[in-house]
Amino acid sequence: MSDGRHLAGNLAVVTGGGRGIGAAIAEALAELGAGVAVLGRDADELRGRAASIAEAHGVRTHAAVCDVTDEVAVQHAFSDIRAALGEVHILVNNAGQSAGVAFGDTTREVWDRMLAVNLTGTFHCTQQVVPAMQAAKWGRIINIASTAGQKGYSHTAAYCAAKHGVVGLTRALAMETARQGITVNAVCPGYTDTDMARSAIDNLVRAGRTEDDALRAITRVMPIDRLIRPEEVASAVAWLCAPGAAAVTGQCIGVAGGEVM
Ligand code: NDP
Repeated sequence: MSDGRHLAGNLAVVTGGGRGIGAAIAEALAELGAGVAVLGRDADELRGRAASIAEAHGVRTHAAVCDVTDEVAVQHAFSDIRAALGEVHILVNNAGQSAGVAFGDTTREVWDRMLAVNLTGTFHCTQQVVPAMQAAKWGRIINIASTAGQKGYSHTAAYCAAKHGVVGLTRALAMETARQGITVNAVCPGYTDTDMARSAIDNLVRAGRTEDDALRAITRVMPIDRLIRPEEVASAVAWLCAPGAAAVTGQCIGVAGGEVM
């Protein structure tokens, strides 16, 4: 399509689409013409995002309220999405939480929550879309993992384990669906300028660093020497949905300013 709206006629679900990286992804896909359902726990935030995207891009949108850790709630949310907008062609598993704690302070609650939100939530949502994608012989699944899905960082054992799991799920499902017109990829951001990175900076400030020091501490692992912008992550997701990326599957695409080659 020559008007740059090559995703017109497709429906994308973006989990955690109310704010941060997910909101940027929802915007980018809508700009390309896709209808968009944003999914998360904060109904007001999601409704506001859905309304502003519909107004800005002239696409159909929907706000789906659920916690991705709750399998039954996820089933209901996807039923609502299908009833409102039809079958899902693109799924972006972006909802996530991080926890910066030493291994010795990693309680069973923290461990379970990291795995439940980041990994099992991705599994729940993916289960909801694969059968229809297989029937349609087309689908795009993009999991927002992290550089923490490709290497270890201290004080993040549970988050790293969960994100490595997301990468494993991505690679395995990509093999299973490669001949079915479905691609499954992970996008792995480095520290990105959202509430999540903000809280990592706040933790360092509470531990006695200045704001500048804290920012330098988290960006020094990235050769680009700055936080990633949410729109830069969204741009990789949009590319993975483009016709030219049909042969790209099972990959981890780093958007991390040169970290993790
Ligand atoms: P934010 O904290 O800004 O946003 C997280 C989003 O996930 C929110 O929309 C939140 O909505 C949603 N979410 C969290 N828990 C749940 C849940 N249980 N059920 C449904 N939705 C949930 O983070 P980012 O935008 O920065 O992060 C997006 C993704 O990118 C995450 O997977 C994160 O791990 C990953 N990432 C982020 C990096 C960063 O530096 N920012 C670096 C690498 C990866 P709500 O709380 O309202 O439900």
